[in-house]
Amino acid sequence: EAKRAGGARCVLFENAMRERAARRADIEADLRLALVEEQLFVVYQPVVGLGPDGATDFGAGVEALVRWQHPARGVVPPFEFIQVAEECGLIGALGDFVLRRACRDFQSWQRTLGARAPRLLAVNLSRAQLAEAGWPATVRQVLIDNAMLPAQLQLEVTESLAAQDQHVQQRLHELKAIGITLALDDFGTGYSSLSSLHQLPVDTVKIDRSFVCQADTSHHHRVLIEATVKVAQSLGMSTVAEGIETEAQAAAVRALSCAKGQGYLFSRPLTSGALLDWLCINMPAPAIAETGRVDGC
Ligand code: C2E
Ligand code: MG
Ligand code: MG
Ligand code: MG
Repeated sequence: EAKRAGGARCVLFENAMRERAARRADIEADLRLALVEEQLFVVYQPVVGLGPDGATDFGAGVEALVRWQHPARGVVPPFEFIQVAEECGLIGALGDFVLRRACRDFQSWQRTLGARAPRLLAVNLSRAQLAEAGWPATVRQVLIDNAMLPAQLQLEVTESLAAQDQHVQQRLHELKAIGITLALDDFGTGYSSLSSLHQLPVDTVKIDRSFVCQADTSHHHRVLIEATVKVAQSLGMSTVAEGIETEAQAAAVRALSCAKGQGYLFSRPLTSGALLDWLCINMPAPAIAETGRVDGC
C-alpha cells in the first residue's frame, strides 16, 4: 500500500517536472520570438527624494522594469521569464534591449521636460551581462548615443552578484570607472550582512520591500532599517526604501533618514508616455524665463 502511494507520488512528481520543463521550453521559444518581434517593452517606476521636512522630490529618478506583451498570454511579469532568459543565453540580448530603450526614453524626457525630467535612470543588471568582457564598452557607447552623462545611469545588482568572484568585481569596477553608479538591490534578502557592505563597490543600498512594508508597524523592522541607513551613510552610500505602499510607511522611513523611496504610494511602474503625464502633474513648473524654454507639459 505504502509502496503504491509512493509510486503514485513519484508519477505525480514526474508529471510536474515534465510540465515544468515543457512550460520552460515554451517560454524559451516564445522569448526568442519576442526579442525579434519586439514584444518586450519597458516601464518606469518613479524613485522619489524624501526630504526630512516632509517634502517629496518627484524628479529624483526612475527604475526601468521590463515587461513582455505576449500575443496569447497578455502581459507576462519578469519573474516568469528573467530566469529562463538567464538560463538559455537570452539575457544578454534582453539586457541590451532594456538598456538601449531606457536610455532612449530618458533622453526623450529630457528633451520634452528639461529641468522637470527625472535626473537618474536605474537599470537592473543580470549576472550574465557581467560575464561579457565587452559589456562596459557597450554601456559607454549607449550613453554616448543618447547624450547621457555616466552619472545619470545607475545599474542595480543583487547581493549575490555584487559579492561574486574577482571577474565580476573587476567588471563592476570598470563600470564605476566610467562614472556610472551602482545600487545594491533587494538588500536584506540575501546572504551578505551589514558588516560586508564596505566590501561591495556600491553607491546606493536599496532596502527590500519585506522590511519597508513593516516599517510603520514593527519596531524590529524599524531597527533594521535604521541600522542599514546608518551603516550606509557612514560608508558614503545613499539609501532607497523599496515598495512603499502607505503614507505611514513613507513617514516611518523618512523619520529614519532614508534618502529616497519607491513604491505604489508614489506611482506604479508607468509607460514612457504615462510617466511624462505623471511628471507634468507632480513636478513644479520652472519659470519659462529661468530655463529659456517652453516646457513640454
Ligand atoms: P526589483 O528590481 O526589486 O524591482 C522592484 C519590483 O517591485 C518591481 O516588480 C516593482 O513593480 C515592484 N514594486 C514596486 N513598488 C511596489 C510596491 O509598492 N508594492 C509591491 N508589492 N511591489 C512593488 P517587477 O517589475 O515585477 O520586477 C520584479 C523583478 O524582476 C525586479 O525586482 C528585478 O529583479 C527583475 N527585473 C525587472 N526588470 C528587469 C530587467 O530589465 N532586467 C533584469 N535583469 N531584471 C529585471
Ligand atoms: Mg531593481
Ligand atoms: Mg529591488
Ligand atoms: Mg525586488
